[in-house]
Amino acid sequence: MHAPPCHQVTLARNDIAHVQQCAACECVSIHLGTTTVRVDPLALEALWVVLGEAAATVYAQRNAELGSSRGLA
Ligand SMILES: [Zn+2]
Repeated sequence: MHAPPCHQVTLARNDIAHVQQCAACECVSIHLGTTTVRVDPLALEALWVVLGEAAATVYAQRNAELGSSRGLA
């Protein structure tokens, strides 16, 4: 027995990423330019959490720098 071929369906896309999921095996493909990363749905969720944390940290650091440059920190 062999697995059926993947049938990719788009979940979301924007200017930097295109995210697809296979309707047969549920694997998720994240296309970033010429690079594609394949993960399972649980890993997609973990990636979403860590990216959110990273973005929040960058946002907080940027606001702290803006505040200190204006003498507001
Ligand atoms: Zn598949």
